[in-house]
Amino acid sequence: MVQGTLYLVATPIGNLEDISPRALRILREADLIACEDTRHTARLLARYEISTPRESYHKFNEEKRTAKLMQRLHEGAQIALVSDSGTPLVSDPGYEIVAACRRQGIRVTPVPGPSAAIAALIGSGLPTDSFFFAGFLPARSSGRKRRLGELAAIPATLIFYEAPHRLLASLSDMVAVLGSRQAAIARELTKIHEEFLTGSLPELLGRFQEREKIQGEIVIVVERGEAAAEPVVSPDSIKQHLEEEIQKTGLSRNEALKSVARQRGITRKQAYRMVLDED
Ligand code: SAM
Repeated sequence: MVQGTLYLVATPIGNLEDISPRALRILREADLIACEDTRHTARLLARYEISTPRESYHKFNEEKRTAKLMQRLHEGAQIALVSDSGTPLVSDPGYEIVAACRRQGIRVTPVPGPSAAIAALIGSGLPTDSFFFAGFLPARSSGRKRRLGELAAIPATLIFYEAPHRLLASLSDMVAVLGSRQAAIARELTKIHEEFLTGSLPELLGRFQEREKIQGEIVIVVERGEAAAEPVVSPDSIKQHLEEEIQKTGLSRNEALKSVARQRGITRKQAYRMVLDED
């Protein structure tokens, strides 16, 4: 009996030409295409004259559909999983079924292709040696700021997805939490109106505030912070910083140490040890 396989097929994020010959062959030859939205994927399939049967697989039926699809896979079906655009499982459904396949010994094969996160990163002009994909930020400002606070110390370029109606609110919270880091806004990637805007976060906020309307699909790429970029803190510089802090603020030694540790992105204990080492 043929072994069942789940293919994770990346599809275009705008330009329908961005699909590999292998992806097209698998979509054509599969027994079934599990789609986030069958009508949405119909456009792509029509363009390439692919008539493989489709079924919906989205976040509201993911659990129920996983059980059904797993049964088909155990019977030997070849199933292609696609999302509305880009790479499935990247801020899109699919995790449940891939995890189930791994648990139950079903073959899983990625068919790589476009993802807005990578397209935005490589066009941003920001360092690509190390990056962190943060997906969508929380919708409410308090949750968003909390999350940004957690991400601030990560020593990597940060990548966010954002809806156009939340761009100004998110940029404004980024300015509050991440300061004036360099950033890039990638809008409508691979489409006719593709644009990249680069500058500091406050500059970008100002430029979008001037726009009457903000539309389209958006990725925000943010440079890593200075504290995060220089995680190695020398005991010498901490001791000096501590003396300056005491002089400047009149805080007690203990309070000043806490403040220095916070500013330098290390724990109070680490700062304390560095100061002791020096004595
Ligand atoms: N799985 C997709 C991927 O691999 O890129 C992402 C799906 S997520 C639900 C949709 C978000 O991706 C959009 O809100 C936007 O932030 C980003 N996105 C998708 N297509 C884009 C494009 N053409 N240009 C800019 N951002 C895009």
